[in-house]
Formats: sequence, structure tokens, C-alpha cells
Amino acid sequence: MEKVSICRGCGRTINSDFVFCPWCGSVAESGEYLDDAFDAAFDKAGALQHVATESRIERMSDELGELEKALSSLISSGR
Ligand SMILES: [Zn+2]
Repeated sequence: MEKVSICRGCGRTINSDFVFCPWCGSVAESGEYLDDAFDAAFDKAGALQHVATESRIERMSDELGELEKALSSLISSGR
């Protein structure tokens, strides 16, 4: 079975025997095979998701703070 690598220039899959990418002509990285590229992509996606979760939590805590302020002003101005 032939090994396939991913072009750094255009991101297309190319036969890893190729020295140059037939699509965009940039030099093909040898040794970077499809599995590695997938692993890297998943790692990146995981990191992005982590950041997204953190910012979501941050925003939620901001909203909670606002809610708390609103509630306490409601209580202090209460009957
Ligand atoms: Zn290319």
C-alpha cells in the first residue's frame, strides 16, 4: 500500500514518493504521513475546543456576576 502525505503548501494529499506537490509545486515533506497529519489536526482541534470552553466559562461567570449584581440591587431596593 502506498503512503500518502499532505502537502504543506496546499493541504492536498499527495503520494509521499513525490518530491514536489503535483498540485501547487511546493516541496513535499517526507516523513509526514497521513496518520501524523490527522493526529496533529485532532490535537489542534482539541486545543481550540479547550480555549472555546474556557472563554465560554469566562463569559458565563461574567453573566453570573451581572445577575448577582442585579439581584442584590433588587434585594436592597426591596420592600
Ligand atoms: Zn501542494
